[in-house]
Amino acid sequence: MARGTSTTALLLGLFLVGFLVAPSAAAADSKGDQQPANKASGGPVIGIDLGTTYSCVGVYRNGHVEIIANDQGNRITPSWVAFTDSGERLIGEAAKNQAASNPLRTIYDAKRLIGRQYGDAEVHKDMKHLPYKIVEKRGKPHMEVEVKDGDVRTLSPEEVSAMVLTRMKETAEAFLGEPVKDAVITIPAYFNDAQRQATKDAGAIAGLNVVRLINEPTAAAIAYGLDNKAKDAKEERNVLVFDLGGGTFDVSVLTIDNGVFEVLATNGDTHLGGEDFDHRLMDYLVKLVKRKHGKDVSHDARALGKLRRECERAKRALSSQHQVRVEIESLFDGVDLSEPLTRARFEELNSDLFRKTMTPVKKAMADAGLAKGDIHEVVLVGGSTRIPKIQQFLKDYFDGKEPSKGVNPDEAVAYGAAVQGSIVRGDNAEKLVVLDVTPLTLGIETAGGVMTPLIPRGTVIPTRKTKTFTTYQDRQTTVSVVVFEGERSMTKDNKQLGKFDLTGIAPAPRGTPQIEVTFEVDVNGILHVKAADKGTGKSEKIQITSAADRRITQEEIDRMVREAEEFAEEDRKVRERVDARNRMEAYVYHVRTTVDGEAGQGMDGGDKERVREAAREASEWIDENPEADKDEYVEKLKELEDLCNPVFAAADSHKSGGGHDEAEEDDHDEL
Ligand code: AMP
Repeated sequence: MARGTSTTALLLGLFLVGFLVAPSAAAADSKGDQQPANKASGGPVIGIDLGTTYSCVGVYRNGHVEIIANDQGNRITPSWVAFTDSGERLIGEAAKNQAASNPLRTIYDAKRLIGRQYGDAEVHKDMKHLPYKIVEKRGKPHMEVEVKDGDVRTLSPEEVSAMVLTRMKETAEAFLGEPVKDAVITIPAYFNDAQRQATKDAGAIAGLNVVRLINEPTAAAIAYGLDNKAKDAKEERNVLVFDLGGGTFDVSVLTIDNGVFEVLATNGDTHLGGEDFDHRLMDYLVKLVKRKHGKDVSHDARALGKLRRECERAKRALSSQHQVRVEIESLFDGVDLSEPLTRARFEELNSDLFRKTMTPVKKAMADAGLAKGDIHEVVLVGGSTRIPKIQQFLKDYFDGKEPSKGVNPDEAVAYGAAVQGSIVRGDNAEKLVVLDVTPLTLGIETAGGVMTPLIPRGTVIPTRKTKTFTTYQDRQTTVSVVVFEGERSMTKDNKQLGKFDLTGIAPAPRGTPQIEVTFEVDVNGILHVKAADKGTGKSEKIQITSAADRRITQEEIDRMVREAEEFAEEDRKVRERVDARNRMEAYVYHVRTTVDGEAGQGMDGGDKERVREAAREASEWIDENPEADKDEYVEKLKELEDLCNPVFAAADSHKSGGGHDEAEEDDHDEL
């Protein structure tokens, strides 16, 4: 077939020409208010910081934010989920604490996988470090885990995150004493469209109405009240947010102008955080044990687990003291560890990692086009920013400027999300507009596989840009619009988001037709692409996030919600079973102490023996049946009560005739 005929459906892409409309004329950056993604239902709106290693929840109540402690009394909860031999699902501390002995069924770091494609280089890098199994399902990474004996499931990162979110929701509900439906959830500023969408889906699976996603650095700045400070100063304020958590490091440069937040630049290191500092300490101690005791603990999971916990404790202590003692009794093979550790040694072991944190700071500043002196506030987020040496590096870089303090760095993000939640709900007098930006450049492929940007990275949304393109060959009647995101100059190095054809272009010499391509990113970060032939008026469009490969479908969400409910049902059953067993154990204990105590003295000898024997049998039965059903425990308990209670009652009445009575005394106390 001759090249250049109208039947050439192979015509590759588009060709950018000289009469391209200048971006400044064609592009309209709209800076209107961002509307909430979903409407609030009227109940409390909680703020959730869904972190890679830890999560935190807060709510705005009675004029201030409360960060809510979980059932263990902790204000941050590990973003960990585990499945045990007995079919229990553990979330939070309970999951993290048993990780060393159950590595294949303990899931964490779901945030590293959420919204990503299985083929992503990042995913493959992460897979090397994650002990649990990751498999491909419809092009996406899933966790394969045995949730019960013989019941192997593949869980999506959305489902695992939903389990963590559910725990945060329950924590808030226990505190508020009412059901919670609505939430503001935070995400890293660099999260792309798919990662944002997937986080929202995780919220939906957890039964939450995600009224808004906001960027973590924006939430932190809100927590510090920097929006109000900017208002008072009546000038634009520039803020650098330095977020060093357990496993990730994010730097963001924001500008706040009249209550409007813009992220000017982001940078960071997806694999740098407190856990790396723990590892350095562990390596040091493993070597020390080898040298001093001639023992190698590096292959013993249990010893390493103990060591990891102790190293983290020592590290935290060294943020406020200059010296600690690392102590682990029976660490391994008869070795008791007891070593002094100074802050100076800790700093020396990590000096290259600490220093490394300054590179993303410099890059973000350069990307934002700001000089050091332009930064009004430096905000610390993440537990690892408590390390004095890191604060020192940052202070030195900013020529002695002190970072803002006052908000707990682990809680700042959830705090800001809770403030934002109150604004969405309308019970906070402040009016605050939060604007997001596009985290990556969006563009299309033009002739030769070139990435031609339409919306540069860091553009404030909502936004719309139009560029005019033309045909590459004579009499070309079809053009393919292939949409990409990424910073590289060739599309093969970027990520394809979607594709559609515009057909029926009037045959003309190459370079003549004018094809207008419009990119629009709406308030929710969703990209709409339209192509129109000016000659014929024909147009085609797609909405990127609705493409099947971009996100899970509503059907899948519904299925996952059902499965989450199934898990919740399982959890409830396990809890009921354990409660029933506990009640029975408690009663057996009560029987024994009663018979052997004062009350037993008034009992008939034969009765006493019968009761003792029944308690012994019941206790044995519990030991032999630790996994019995709730009903079985209830039934056994009832049998025991039916046997014992009449004996106790008889002893009681016999005794009450005789004067002093403990039960009566109890009654008095209650009055
Ligand atoms: P985040 O995910 O922001 O809560 O950060 C958790 C990380 O901060 C973990 O690696 C903790 O060990 C670390 N961290 C918490 N408190 C301190 C502290 N006082 N000094 C040093 N690191 C800390």
